Amino acid sequence: MISKAKSILTTIFGYTNFRPLQEEIISRILSKNDALVIMPTGGGKSLCYQIPSLLFEGLTIVVSPLISLMKDQVEQLRLLGVGAAVLNSSLSHEEYHENVSNIESGKSKLLYVAPETLLMERTINILRPLKIDCITIDEAHCISEWGHDFRPEYRELVKLREIFTNAVYAAFTATATPRVQEDIIRSLKLNNPKKYIASFDRQNLYLEIAQKYDALNQTIKFLRRYQNQSGIIYCFSRKQVDSLAAALTHHGFSVRPYHAGLPDDERKTNQELFIKDDVQIIVATIAFGMGINKSNVRFVIHYDLPKNIEGYYQEIGRSGRDGLRAHCLLLFNYSDIMKINYFIDQKEGEEKRIAKKHLQSLLNYAETGVCRRIPLLKYFGEKYENKKCGMCDNCNSAEKDLVDVTIPAQKFLSCIKRTGEIYGAGYIIDVLRGSKAQKIIDNKHDQISTYGIGNDYSKLQWIMLSHQFVKNELIIPEPQYGSLKVAPKGYDVLFNRQTVTGTIKEDAEQKRTVIDTADYDLELFNILKSKRKKIASASNLPPYVIFSDKSLIDMAGKYPINKKEMLSIYGMGEIKYERYGEIFLGLIIDYCRKYKKKEIENKPHKNYKQDVDKKPKMNVKIGEMYNSGKSVSEIMNVTKLKRSTILGHLYTYSQNAPLQNPARLLEDSFSSEEKITEASKAFSDLGTELLKPVYTALEEKISYDELHLIRIYYLNATRK
Ligand code: ADP
Ligand code: ZN
Repeated sequence: MISKAKSILTTIFGYTNFRPLQEEIISRILSKNDALVIMPTGGGKSLCYQIPSLLFEGLTIVVSPLISLMKDQVEQLRLLGVGAAVLNSSLSHEEYHENVSNIESGKSKLLYVAPETLLMERTINILRPLKIDCITIDEAHCISEWGHDFRPEYRELVKLREIFTNAVYAAFTATATPRVQEDIIRSLKLNNPKKYIASFDRQNLYLEIAQKYDALNQTIKFLRRYQNQSGIIYCFSRKQVDSLAAALTHHGFSVRPYHAGLPDDERKTNQELFIKDDVQIIVATIAFGMGINKSNVRFVIHYDLPKNIEGYYQEIGRSGRDGLRAHCLLLFNYSDIMKINYFIDQKEGEEKRIAKKHLQSLLNYAETGVCRRIPLLKYFGEKYENKKCGMCDNCNSAEKDLVDVTIPAQKFLSCIKRTGEIYGAGYIIDVLRGSKAQKIIDNKHDQISTYGIGNDYSKLQWIMLSHQFVKNELIIPEPQYGSLKVAPKGYDVLFNRQTVTGTIKEDAEQKRTVIDTADYDLELFNILKSKRKKIASASNLPPYVIFSDKSLIDMAGKYPINKKEMLSIYGMGEIKYERYGEIFLGLIIDYCRKYKKKEIENKPHKNYKQDVDKKPKMNVKIGEMYNSGKSVSEIMNVTKLKRSTILGHLYTYSQNAPLQNPARLLEDSFSSEEKITEASKAFSDLGTELLKPVYTALEEKISYDELHLIRIYYLNATRK
């Protein structure tokens, strides 16, 4: 049987190997023994019951709480050539009868249904005469009052046991504490079930926690790195969602808000636009995400602190379902913590105790100096066996060792004293760094002795230092507003009675996270992607249902030019090939012809566009240097060319081939985010051929050199 399962995996689903536990679970279900499966989102639960359903003679019923998810699954299966049906109240009379007859005739091997529909007498009467081989309960934690999403209807499912006595029962969930697990087993009367607990480590999620000091600009910088990619930004409040969505729209990003305060139809539209890749970014409260199966979410930003680790894990889990790398950024600062602490202190008893505990585990995770996966997985009762994952900020940071930071501590403490112990860290740092902010001038703090003595560190480095000073109890933040006071230990430092050691982090923004575009041809990928979008729109489907990003990337890396090669592409089953394979094959062949594929036949993984010219021209050399990860200033160092010359070459290069990750260019810019946005808008309005009109339109505020740089960025970032 299992060899048949394996062959279905390849021919229908287009995958080469089972993921961990899938094979064991499938065998267990096929042998008609009950199972409880705990696997994180994106782990591959669906295949575990979809494959057996194709091998069973009778019907497999899949109980699922959300109609939108069912529809999605049925669509995906239909495109793979697998017959599946839904029954629910939103179907028209005709659809309902068609689905029923497909179930009765065996044309549909899977039936997706919500518990309340399944338990209706009408439904039971349809199903009773049929052979039911498997009953799958998806999102099984909904059965438990201890879970986070209790649905009382789930408790009634146990009645099915007496009706469909020949079926095997398999329960699936992504979150389950031992208590919830026991509840599932008991409430469903699972028969001597075997438990399968997969690792909660989602290896393709890059975990990063950054000190939040200028959240909007940090977010914009981040988003520029992921231009044209889908992502979710979680905020704490509806108000924050609205204002952030508006600010990002103003900066030219494709954004929609989502929260419970919006009218139903607006919320629905915004979600739909996101799912169909018509909008790139959703700014949302935690209300967003349940019922979303979108596989190509490339980043999740937590603009505010999440409620607890469990929520955080669920929210970041919505990214990278396709197995490709996704970036999860949490913006974190101590004034947020103090605010939350303040609210917690208003609570009482058990509620207060639990809230404190949740906050503490979040803090442990945020403050850890070791690999983030160690505390994260520990929270879920799992031991992370490696020392380093290589996919979190801590594993990648070039943190310096402990150094003596007595002098900066003295500067900081003394500045707190001289400004009267009534300001927060941000203000103190501005004074130290000699800011010309009006408030500082009005307060005459530009005339005190600590003004401008802190320019040896960046704002961010100062913020990190200040956190260490709080931790070392040199300063005490006032709980509600965060103004800083010098603590007794601080006076010891101030008067040279004690020294301080700490770490000075490399500026986090300078850290380059490598984005894996090297293995495939970005231009071909974009061609395939836009075809996918056209097909999807024509059939009113989300693009990822046609092909996942991972499938397109596989094509853009391997250049399949015949049926056999195409069938080896990730996710390319036989029916999928019949439906879409040739269309995409055609595009790839055209592309290869255009760029003389012959030349690259033996090195299919390289971006061969640049191989067309035997002797690379200077612009190609410079462009490739950039694409290999060098910045403009690094290229200046290596080539000894002038900045303007290099920009000239990059401009020429990018008219023929893409610069990868163009946002990196902006690291060499001297302009503010506001200016960059303004200039990009001007290029979009006035065209990119000439710099002069843009220069004039911006009232000569941005130099030609800067405009040159921003133009290259703009051209590449908006490349289709
Ligand atoms: P879950 O239901 O656990 O959140 P899914 O069943 O939706 O996860 O699977 C996540 C993604 O992984 C889907 O795109 C699915 O097609 C893919 N997938 C599942 N099993 C495999 C496998 N063995 N090889 C490759 N991809 C797989
Ligand atoms: Zn790590």
